[in-house]
Amino acid sequence: MVRGTTYPCRRADADGGMPGVQAWSVAPANLCVSAQGGPAVAVVRLHSFAGNLVEVPEGAVERFADELRGRLIQPVDPEYDTARAVWNGLVDKRPGLIARCADSGDVATAVNFAREHDLLLAARGGGHNVSGIASCDGGLVVDLSPMSAALTNPATEIVRAQGGVRIADLDQATQPFNLAVPMGVVSETGAAGLTLGGGFGWLFRKHGLSCDNLLSAEVVTSDGGTVRAGSKPSEDPDLLWALRGGGGNFGIVTEFEFRAHPVGPDVFCSLVVHAGADAGEALRAIRSWKETIPDEVASLAILMYGPPMEGFPQEYVGRPVLIHLATYVGDPDEGERVLAAARALGRPVVDLSGRRTYLELQEFFDADYPAHELRYYWKSRFLTGLDDALIDTIVGLSEAAPSPRSTIDVWPLGGAMARVPAGDTAFGDRSMPYMLGIEANWENAEDDDANIAWARDVYERTGAYSDGREYVNFPGFYEADELARSTFGDNYPRLVELKRRFDPQNLFRLNHNISPTG
Ligand code: FAD
Repeated sequence: MVRGTTYPCRRADADGGMPGVQAWSVAPANLCVSAQGGPAVAVVRLHSFAGNLVEVPEGAVERFADELRGRLIQPVDPEYDTARAVWNGLVDKRPGLIARCADSGDVATAVNFAREHDLLLAARGGGHNVSGIASCDGGLVVDLSPMSAALTNPATEIVRAQGGVRIADLDQATQPFNLAVPMGVVSETGAAGLTLGGGFGWLFRKHGLSCDNLLSAEVVTSDGGTVRAGSKPSEDPDLLWALRGGGGNFGIVTEFEFRAHPVGPDVFCSLVVHAGADAGEALRAIRSWKETIPDEVASLAILMYGPPMEGFPQEYVGRPVLIHLATYVGDPDEGERVLAAARALGRPVVDLSGRRTYLELQEFFDADYPAHELRYYWKSRFLTGLDDALIDTIVGLSEAAPSPRSTIDVWPLGGAMARVPAGDTAFGDRSMPYMLGIEANWENAEDDDANIAWARDVYERTGAYSDGREYVNFPGFYEADELARSTFGDNYPRLVELKRRFDPQNLFRLNHNISPTG
């Protein structure tokens, strides 16, 4: 879906201060001279993981830079501003050092440097987490984004990919063989954080979440060692279990091994638009239809303002609509037959359904989520159902969004991903029939408070319809610490045990954090 910049701009009144919104601007780490009772030495001031400043001798930083095959970037370097930017334009953090890693040896060197100097450490895959947690103020960013290679073995249908790989890199490596790894619905997104947190996209009802398709991984742990997580005798099965949904808590993944599945080159997609006035009726119809669909079908219902995209009826541009996109993973002719029911739901005002290549489907939303330009704040909830009252609530709240770029997304769940028992992976319970995505997307800093307040309001007012858990990859600013426990449910004690084993100091704390002390 391509959006222009021609939206009528609506702005709600800002409601004053915003508790929980962090001020990201912190003075950059600086080079200075420290005497501290001895001869004067040049030091670099950095932030420790305990929250205080530490002084690291400049010579140690130089040695660190020399040991890297990639680049160590500091605030004085011309590429610093580019290197520190993450996808979300709302995030403006200033790391003290950025290690642009070239290989797993660089990652181990960086982890050792952080541990030896007690530094705050952020691990960066694609840099897409909406919270901006892939960066930090004053600490060390271990940046894997240069490590984005992916290689498919078509005979085994197994894909090996480096720790900074994006979904698009995986798709480019797999589609020549008509294969795909289950990933998310925006191809620019980093695959590492997405996989480690779960991973919902067009294939999860047929082939499971991204984390279910993770076969093994090479992980640099907090002691700088390398552990192979996997289910072969030489591999660590507990670590594989933890990586399947436990996030970046246990180490930095430098290589993933994924199971791919036959998909494409073409898929059939049903894409229909309902007027805002009919959105409630359409969502009720989608609720009944969901109970009838085979695993091959996945869909996403999006409450939003009509985008200025090709083929979109002019009279609905900038007005509330519901867009329902459903795909069939399998023979496109069969898909067209099966998805006829989706196209007939409610009273659509336009039908843009048709055959697309799988790559086109994967890129369909890319232009809606530009990096750095827009400001984003996303939350989520797992829903116990799609009650009439909830439908009315979200339709109303979507129309009240201060930004015409914001959306409320209903993800019907179920299928293969729901058949994995809660204890089989760290991800935990999969029984909820829907996930709600709450996306505040806006342009200007002066609208921050209003947009964040809107998303939080949607989150609060949908709480009664959820099991209390949220998806770790749509986390706001990770402001609710106690969520780690509720997210993981009965898996939490085992995760704490594994955290103690692999990261007793909690070096990897910038994530949906599992504390080693429980
Ligand atoms: P980063 O922002 O780089 O890192 C976030 C955290 O992940 C880090 O703090 C670290 O803890 C961990 N991490 C990252 N890389 C590594 C690594 N190599 N080893 C260990 N830990 C690591 N999610 C879905 O499930 N489905 C979707 O369809 C979907 N669509 C999205 C669309 C957009 C435009 C965006 C921005 C996000 C979307 N997401 C989706 C959410 C996505 O899963 C998260 O943003 C995820 O964190 C992205 O991964 P990343 O590698 O870019 O994370």
